[in-house]
Amino acid sequence: MLQVEDLRKKFKNKTAVDGVNLFLDQGESVGLLGPNGAGKSTTISMISTLLTPTSGDVRYKGSDVLKKPDVIRPVLGVVPQEIAIYEELTAYENMDFFGKAYGLSGKKLKNKIDEILELVGLTDRKKEKVREYSGGMKRRINIAVSLMHDPELLIMDEPTVGIDPQSRSYILDMVRQLNQEKGMTVLYTSHYMEEVEKLCDRIYIMDHGQIIASGTKEELKSILSSEDTILIEVQEKSSQFVEELNNHSAIQQVVEANGGYKVIIAKNKDLFADIFELAKSMKVKVRGVHVQTPTLEDVFLHLTGRKLRD
Ligand code: ADP
Ligand code: MG
Repeated sequence: MLQVEDLRKKFKNKTAVDGVNLFLDQGESVGLLGPNGAGKSTTISMISTLLTPTSGDVRYKGSDVLKKPDVIRPVLGVVPQEIAIYEELTAYENMDFFGKAYGLSGKKLKNKIDEILELVGLTDRKKEKVREYSGGMKRRINIAVSLMHDPELLIMDEPTVGIDPQSRSYILDMVRQLNQEKGMTVLYTSHYMEEVEKLCDRIYIMDHGQIIASGTKEELKSILSSEDTILIEVQEKSSQFVEELNNHSAIQQVVEANGGYKVIIAKNKDLFADIFELAKSMKVKVRGVHVQTPTLEDVFLHLTGRKLRD
């Protein structure tokens, strides 16, 4: 359905997107996961024809989007990272405005507004000005206006940043419903790995303008199948201890984690004795050592040596 080839964007002295290849099949839910500054929004802006690429190719159902933006514009819904609705209008008025902009009118428009308000859970609040909404409600109405024209492809740019957990889970459920029940194809951008893990059939991991890994979450985790992740809980953190861990030949990565350190080691290496030994000599009190199944965060860590939210 969507095919992106060798897409690049250079700003003055900064290459924001550096040769991105990705595709979406019809009906898929695909995640674009990466830390802040990875180049996700820039990539999405180019796919949505809001920003002209420095070079590369974007095709929608085989047609060249860069030469003929109208092959994608009418069937595309974009939820931008920044909220783009009118604060002084009510939810209803916003949807009415965007619906008319998409050419809807009369009964059709009214029915569509009612349907989408129900979907985003704002029916009871439709007469309130958006200015008075909570952050989560603003996010939901931001999504609502992008759905007025029944897009085939929905692109969402970090739609859950900075909102309460309840709105967040509401939005995630909604995206799943749009994808699974309405068959909408979704490109979902986030720096929260739990979200893409929950929502997406396939995931692209992006860093420094490049796609550094892609696949289903199982495939991505199998990158780490020859490795184990161990969580070492300590009474007090110690930079010397970290240094010693890093110096150990069987230890590949060490990062700070909640209550201690996360360590990636070669599989089946029995390091427990060594870890306790090192801790003892550094006078670090170990509270627990736990072997964990790898997460996408660990995959990112393995590939970049950094945490997603660094
Ligand atoms: P993400 O959405 O993954 O956080 P962005 O695509 O917003 O990343 O940004 C990627 C990089 O490009 C960042 O370093 C950002 O500062 C830079 N960048 C984005 N837009 C512009 C612009 N208009 N001019 C200059 N640099 C930009
Ligand atoms: Mg962004």
